Amino acid sequence: MSECLGCENPTKVTLRTGTVVCNTCEEWRLECEARWALDTLPDRPEKKRTKKLRLTRGQYLEDVKAARGVDQYMRLRSTMLAILSDQKNGRAF
Ligand SMILES: [Zn+2]
Repeated sequence: MSECLGCENPTKVTLRTGTVVCNTCEEWRLECEARWALDTLPDRPEKKRTKKLRLTRGQYLEDVKAARGVDQYMRLRSTMLAILSDQKNGRAF
């Protein structure tokens, strides 16, 4: 199953689902963003005395919803949840 929407970039990458797409495909971009958010953003507000509090994952998702719409929000959210569930199952990636 290919998720390529037509960019047909010769550089291929494998999604967590095993689907091979180009490294310019939207599906790959989405997965990278989901991994970035999970690696970088806290899942709840940090209780530190710093004034620059980072966005939480939930706040980031709300920003995505506001900026890109509900569809993109749902896709990013479900990708993040899928990656989290992979991690819980101890799958390597
Ligand atoms: Zn593509």
